[in-house]
Amino acid sequence: MDKNKLSPMMRQYLETKQEYPDAILFYRLGDFYEMFFEDAVVASRILELTLTGRDCGLDKRAPMCGVPYHAAKSYIAKLVDNGYKVAICEQMTEPGVAKLVEREVIQVVTPGTVLESEALDSSTNNFLLSIFADDKNIGVCYSDISTGLLEMTECTGDNAVKLLDDILIRVHPKEIIVNEPVLELCSQLTCVKNSYVPAFEVYEGKHKTLADCKDFLKEHFKVQSLSVFDADNKKQGIIATAKLLDYVFETQKRSITNIKKLVTIKDENYVHLDVAAIRNLELTENMSLRKKYGSLLWLLDQTKTCMGARQLRSYIDRPLKNSREINDRLDAVDELRQNYILRENLQEALSTVGDIERRCGKISANTILPKELFSLAGSLARVAEIKNLIIGSKSKLLKKLYNQIIDMTDVAEYLKSAISSDAPAVMKDGGYIAAGFSEELDNLRNAKEYGKVWLANLEQSEKEKTGIKNLKTGYNRVFGYYIEVTNGSLANVPDYYIRKQTTTTAERFIIPELKEMEYKILSSTEEAIKLENQIYSQIKLKMQERIGDMLESSSAIANLDCLLSLAVVAAKNNYVKPVINENVNHIKIVAGRHPVVEVMSKADFVPNDCDIDEENNTMLITGPNMAGKSTFMRQVAIITLMAHIGSFVPAQSAEICIVDRIFTRVGATDELAFGQSTFMVEMNEVANILSNATNKSLILLDEVGRGTSTYDGLSIAWAILEYISKHIKAKTMFSTHYHELTSLEGELEGVKNYKVMVKEFGGDVMFLHKIGRGSANRSFGIEVAKLAGLPEELLVRAKQILEYQESNKNDTIITETGKIVENIKPNEREVLNILKELDINNIPPIVAFTTLADLIEKIKK
Ligand code: ADP
Repeated sequence: MDKNKLSPMMRQYLETKQEYPDAILFYRLGDFYEMFFEDAVVASRILELTLTGRDCGLDKRAPMCGVPYHAAKSYIAKLVDNGYKVAICEQMTEPGVAKLVEREVIQVVTPGTVLESEALDSSTNNFLLSIFADDKNIGVCYSDISTGLLEMTECTGDNAVKLLDDILIRVHPKEIIVNEPVLELCSQLTCVKNSYVPAFEVYEGKHKTLADCKDFLKEHFKVQSLSVFDADNKKQGIIATAKLLDYVFETQKRSITNIKKLVTIKDENYVHLDVAAIRNLELTENMSLRKKYGSLLWLLDQTKTCMGARQLRSYIDRPLKNSREINDRLDAVDELRQNYILRENLQEALSTVGDIERRCGKISANTILPKELFSLAGSLARVAEIKNLIIGSKSKLLKKLYNQIIDMTDVAEYLKSAISSDAPAVMKDGGYIAAGFSEELDNLRNAKEYGKVWLANLEQSEKEKTGIKNLKTGYNRVFGYYIEVTNGSLANVPDYYIRKQTTTTAERFIIPELKEMEYKILSSTEEAIKLENQIYSQIKLKMQERIGDMLESSSAIANLDCLLSLAVVAAKNNYVKPVINENVNHIKIVAGRHPVVEVMSKADFVPNDCDIDEENNTMLITGPNMAGKSTFMRQVAIITLMAHIGSFVPAQSAEICIVDRIFTRVGATDELAFGQSTFMVEMNEVANILSNATNKSLILLDEVGRGTSTYDGLSIAWAILEYISKHIKAKTMFSTHYHELTSLEGELEGVKNYKVMVKEFGGDVMFLHKIGRGSANRSFGIEVAKLAGLPEELLVRAKQILEYQESNKNDTIITETGKIVENIKPNEREVLNILKELDINNIPPIVAFTTLADLIEKIKK
């Protein structure tokens, strides 16, 4: 491309574009954002815009497409949703004659930094995540800049990469920035292999050394030391955090005033849930549809605010290990559960509280609209009411939340007095500052109103003066105010009327007084708009100062909403308060239910007990397919987890010990598409469990060894059970269809046999879904197949085969007609016969040798 030939504007465009090669450049031209060249081709396809062209000085026109600036938000949202970045380039000077307008990129919108509600889901966080790895540790930091959340952690030890994988799955970031060495880890990350996360983008940033990073963070948070965030010795975490904030500043081109604190996440404070557990227990999404529906989150989510909905997700993602914190939550839930009226009142009040956190994000970004501030006023007023509702609370946590909520009635009232209740969606014509808020503004607006009355009077007096009965005053954009006289009455027009415009039926005139008034009206309108803008800037500044208070209150509201949600679900579904603390060493559940299956299935749910303690730490469960083994094991894990969240549980009673991790190997998740067979996936998961579980863990193993041949599978399952019993001593639930394993009770420490009962009648089975002591002696595979509707003929044949298999007649087979025949080839039979006849003691060695050679020859035939 010959740059010298380019028009000046195109040169400016290309120079700007050069700085943002990886973004689509929205280049402001008057009332439009235009895109050119490759950007235009890409954007026109995604946004379904017509691709046109523009002369740019070159021989060929530049491909071009554009969107009106007032509608840009939704287009930007769509591009970002498709994984693109959008650089917004604005006109910085007024368009003048001949001179090129100056332009500047004022913001780069990226998938991890969007703030506009069009692009955000209100019940989930939108995370940007930064990873910094060196040869020691991996630092991870993630932030939702729309809410101000910023969390940091480190993955250390031999398992660091696996931990990183777990974090990426849990956080599910929209955008990931990394330092170069992280790229080398990609091949070990399943979330990358499965394309569950966006591509890693290398971003080195400005702050190179640890000291630089620390200074940068201290300056941002205005603190003397990062120890206030418990972050001081987290080297890699600090660097990851600094890179993240630097990236945010670079793209947003402003400081981010709603990120007020850094939360250091310490893994040891939470029950660790790995990818398999999150998925298998269907904690936040249903396994088959990958939707929230049918998950534990779906069941527990009765939150009324967006903040609460987001917070509840993190309750489930990060169950607590500290029994004091757990019981604080349980006590608060209990108090709310017992008070129906309070629950109702709180739910009602919370349901009218908007997304205060994200409003703060927009205040920080200076993009908040008047109508959003007006609705914020409503939310803040409700927050004060909510504080009052929990004024007499007894439980420690509710009291704490009461103190944390800041009464911001003053802010609410200020906003209500400042912003007009029917503030328009666009600001350019003004009209959003409430009447009575500024005298000066009111005067300017009055001048306009006064103008209208004056005009009506003028019309009347001119009618009288001229005797033209149908004389009218009017206004249009081009000619301004005028007096209109129809063609029939033109003869009566006085001399001092100055003709301005001719229409088909009338002539339009002006007179000097009218021109004067026009000036007054128009200039006051313009000034009013300017003044409104100034006033609005001041309001926004005032609101900036209260971001801290608002975030503090909304965090309390989020927690209150979660506790209330847990209380509502507990009351509705008849849950009990679990006993959970350091003195409990067992998992004893009486009449437990699976919380999700219970509400989703039409049939009555059969409750079951669970009794695992330090001595009898392994439940070995046998029973036919479909009897309810998986459901039972999952229900125990979910009840255990719910207790750690601080939730009541679906049972008659539950005593739960604190666990450090929950592991699951449940069901077959086939990852063949990624080059791993079901069996390989299974063995990987088991390997992970065996290397990380402790005697404080809960392990669920469902039908391990299924993916390979019977004897392989049985041997592996057997050895795994022995290994856990000898080396790990974790609380274990082990379901199997290998009945041979039940002989381990009494042999292997801690193992107790359980079975799922079935009722047999004729050739049919009925599932009772009841777990009891003992072992199942049959698998009922054929009966289950019958329930599934396999053809009768096939079932009869399967029964025949089974009977003969079980009677161990390996040297015979049963033909399709039911005849038993030898399962041996003629040459094999011949070899056998020779062997039977052979008298080994009475033949010389050389004969023995040649006979052997002969036999080998025969058998190989
Ligand atoms: P398995 O693991 O033994 O093959 P599942 O746990 O998958 O069996 O359960 C099979 C079916 O039985 C599921 O559809 C489930 O809804 C139902 N079920 C399981 N346990 C119960 C129960 N306790 N009460 C009622 N229905 C149950």
